[in-house]
Amino acid sequence: IAMYEAKGAGRNLVRFFDPEMQRVVAEEASLEADLRTAVDHGEFELHFQPQVTASGQVIGAEVLLRWPHKVRGLVSPAEFVPIAEKTGLIVPIGTWVLRRAVGILADWARNDALAMMKLSINVSAAQLHGAGFVETVLGAIDASGARPECLKLEITESLLVRNIGDAIQKMSALQSRGILFSLDDFGTGYSSLSYLKLLPLDQLKIDQSFVRDLPEDGNDAAIAEMVVALGRTLGLNVIAEGVETIGQKEFLQEIGCDQYQGYLFGKPMPLDQFEAFARANAHS
Ligand code: C2E
Ligand code: CA
Ligand code: CA
Ligand code: CA
Repeated sequence: IAMYEAKGAGRNLVRFFDPEMQRVVAEEASLEADLRTAVDHGEFELHFQPQVTASGQVIGAEVLLRWPHKVRGLVSPAEFVPIAEKTGLIVPIGTWVLRRAVGILADWARNDALAMMKLSINVSAAQLHGAGFVETVLGAIDASGARPECLKLEITESLLVRNIGDAIQKMSALQSRGILFSLDDFGTGYSSLSYLKLLPLDQLKIDQSFVRDLPEDGNDAAIAEMVVALGRTLGLNVIAEGVETIGQKEFLQEIGCDQYQGYLFGKPMPLDQFEAFARANAHS
């Protein structure tokens, strides 16, 4: 940390000044300003990453946000979602994602080949715990004619730690209407395993950090086996994310993993591409 004397601000006053920290703060502030404009102008796009069975049959897709920025190019959600969460902008963004996804499901419900395709959307803590979440989801479904059992909400463990009672209540209300829940990034959080039996879940998602070094890494192999066994015991299906190689897929299949997502099967892609992909692989 560099120390500068604040000239003219009093004789003994010094200010601490870290140029790197200042750069990060300024960068975040400028992203935040652009993010607000993007929300107002609806500048976001969605990409769709296939989720498949062991035989390669497409079950649906995870919906992933994309932000094409006029200067920065395509900004990764890993960069702007944390800022959107800090500023509360994730709530209007998340509502937009939800309405778009439900609209797509409604189109598909009237389309023989795609009628059973599911969409999985990421839900942030601020969104789930925010006012009117259950009503927003059910309102979107009822207004559109989408099938509730084709909408899956991905929540993370860290989200649950904040207010488990509120989460259980809202998830139960939605699950009783047929909506599915997947526990994302499973194994990376700090929540107690005892939460698992309290939560109205349908799916566990093995985080890609445990998939990356399969099958060679013995610890990751043991964790993946444990998650699949846990899913079986609790009556939940298990999906692995970040599957990039045949070796990873074969190991996961051997231990009984139900579903797969990763570059091996398909990268996140625009809607028209996903629809073509799904039509071609709906019954393999
Ligand atoms: P996530 O939910 O864990 O999503 C999986 C991420 O892994 C995605 O990154 C996806 O593109 C990437 N991925 C998929 N397959 C592979 C693979 O085989 N190899 C590798 N290396 N990566 C793979 P993405 O799209 O950059 O999204 C990053 C994160 O941003 C997501 O992580 C999620 O936490 C958040 N996010 C994305 N869309 C939304 C959204 O609509 N709402 C909220 N709240 N968060 C979102
Ligand atoms: Ca996810
Ligand atoms: Ca994930
Ligand atoms: Ca992850």
